[in-house]
Amino acid sequence: MHSLDVKCEAVDVLVVGAGPAGTTAAKVLAGKGFRVLLAERCKLPRYKSCSGVLIQKTMTLICQIFGKTPPALVTCSPAENRGMVFTDDRGKSYRFEQPGLNVWRDRFDFWLASEASRCGAEILDGTEVTDCKETDGGVLAALQGKKTGLVQAKFLVDCEGVTGVLKRKLTGGARDFITTFQTFNRGTVALDSHYFYAYLQPEFSEYDAWFNVKDDLLVLGVSVKDRGKISGFYQKFTAYLAEHHQLCIQEQLRQESWLMPRILPGCPVFTGSDRILFAGETAGFLNPMGEGISAAIESGYHAAYAIASAWETPEKAKERYRERIQPLAAYMRRQWDFTARLAAPFKNMKKAENEPDSL
Ligand SMILES: Cc1cc2nc3c(=O)[nH]c(=O)nc-3n(C[C@H](O)[C@H](O)[C@H](O)COP(=O)(O)OP(=O)(O)OC[C@H]3O[C@@H](n4cnc5c(N)ncnc54)[C@H](O)[C@@H]3O)c2cc1C
Repeated sequence: MHSLDVKCEAVDVLVVGAGPAGTTAAKVLAGKGFRVLLAERCKLPRYKSCSGVLIQKTMTLICQIFGKTPPALVTCSPAENRGMVFTDDRGKSYRFEQPGLNVWRDRFDFWLASEASRCGAEILDGTEVTDCKETDGGVLAALQGKKTGLVQAKFLVDCEGVTGVLKRKLTGGARDFITTFQTFNRGTVALDSHYFYAYLQPEFSEYDAWFNVKDDLLVLGVSVKDRGKISGFYQKFTAYLAEHHQLCIQEQLRQESWLMPRILPGCPVFTGSDRILFAGETAGFLNPMGEGISAAIESGYHAAYAIASAWETPEKAKERYRERIQPLAAYMRRQWDFTARLAAPFKNMKKAENEPDSL
């Protein structure tokens, strides 16, 4: 990592958030010679609740953009993920084979940040971007934390993830979240630990329930719109796994809750304003069943390329970005349609009344 003792008065591009979207945008722009400051509000490596499955598409993107595969130290056991098993709302299972990787997110994202740093991006952790606005010829942003003050940049790439505080200030969009709840357990189960299992039966969750294995710990999760339903869903889900797959929990070591953006039918995408581009979950990119790393990397990459190609004509950056992400937006919609075919609750989902359409 570069020294964190940076002077942050003026940079070419300010990237907000050191998740897969932000680190990819920072890596690509720094690699092209731009002066990039990546501000992350948490201390790195930062924790992120995640199943940590890098699907084949993610692995391909990493190879293309980072020129290498993630090192063994970011993986957990079993390192090899062989695909996903979906159980539809009537209890029928479908197995999809594809090679992937099982990682701990704090280590994986820190590796991505290290790669961005190696390309010349300055990483400023423990620092939150609290505000930003477009000015004549640039963006002015306020930083608070390890460094406090104002930063002037020509562009800002907003990769804040689910919370999207800056995005909300900029767009006034409503917040619509799903709560995820997962536990880490010692125990045994008659399921193959190389697969990620998603269950779409409405009695277990309002979106999906899941099972996977990380370093020999059994991870069980449910996702809800109404937090009051977590306990009931979770109990039914564990009872189901006990009955159908001999789940036996000896000890629960940890439990955690997190937020996910609620992905809506049609998967609206929010690209940002002329000089402030949204990427990753901030832009609305997330598979309805919670896979979001591939889209974060892909959208961070496209945001970086749009900025680089429109450097002399900044008013064209947003348009270029919008064009570049069309195939990704179409991929998300196909994922939505696939999920809706498997489970009626997705088919019947409606968008929130005050949620704006794509921006
Ligand atoms: C329980 C769960 C399981 C999941 N499992 C998978 C999985 O197996 N595979 C998969 O592909 N996806 C999975 N996802 C989704 C995936 O984690 C996200 O889609 C992905 O992390 C989005 O990347 P991002 O870069 O957009 O945002 P994030 O990874 O959330 O990164 C955003 C970063 O911005 C920082 N930040 C926020 N606001 C500010 C600010 N104002 N200033 C500075 N920094 C800020 C945050 O601290 C954070 O580090 C899962 C999600 C959950 C909740």
